[in-house]
Amino acid sequence: MAAKRTPSGKAAAVAQGKPAPKARPAAPPGVRRPALRANPYEMLKAGILDGTFEPGSPLVEVQLAEWCGVSRTPVREALTRLEQDGLIQRSDRGYVVKARSPEEIFDIYEVRVVLEALASRTAAERHTRVDLLRLEHALNAWEKATGRSDPSEQQKRNQEFHRAVWAASHSEPLVDLLERLSLHLSRYPATTLTAPGRRESSLEEHRQMLDAIRGRDADGAAELATSHFTAALDIRLAMFEQDVF
Ligand SMILES: [Zn+2]
Repeated sequence: MAAKRTPSGKAAAVAQGKPAPKARPAAPPGVRRPALRANPYEMLKAGILDGTFEPGSPLVEVQLAEWCGVSRTPVREALTRLEQDGLIQRSDRGYVVKARSPEEIFDIYEVRVVLEALASRTAAERHTRVDLLRLEHALNAWEKATGRSDPSEQQKRNQEFHRAVWAASHSEPLVDLLERLSLHLSRYPATTLTAPGRRESSLEEHRQMLDAIRGRDADGAAELATSHFTAALDIRLAMFEQDVF
């Protein structure tokens, strides 16, 4: 079960209704600093993904402008982009953070299974020697991380391996779609790697995928990715049943 993250620093202060602390250190005497530009889109996106703004919570322009330290216009622009990303949606109360649902996680994974299988197949067909080195490096790092108890470190290493497969596909549109999909998935912070036995089986499946890619076995690589991500979907649905999502 993923622990609910506690907002830190400025976000925490705002979440608790306090004014944001001014943490910016003073510049050395005589040094003119370039003005720091707040990027409301990145700030709000990070706040949604780390749970500072909870699913279903309203996003009030004037409060967000204050939180980001900018005027309302850039906040409005940021909200439009976040709606296009599928992270927020309109309601009768204005924008709200998109709620999570088992239907959505099912839909995301169904698409993911197909795209990851295609990435794995294409990686088997098109990979270079550098791609193989990157994949081997990611697999070794992930192998080391499975011995550690920090699930976020393991999740990071796991993602590195899959991103290395994406890169080895050398297909820009495919990587684009997978990136977009992973943005949707990051709204579901619990990781399937904490399910009993999943870390070990995942590691073995990653090894087999790498072998198939290395051997240019396109069908084999696609099949392995399909079963790897179908298993992840099954775990996700089981987690939902247990209220972990
Ligand atoms: Zn994996």
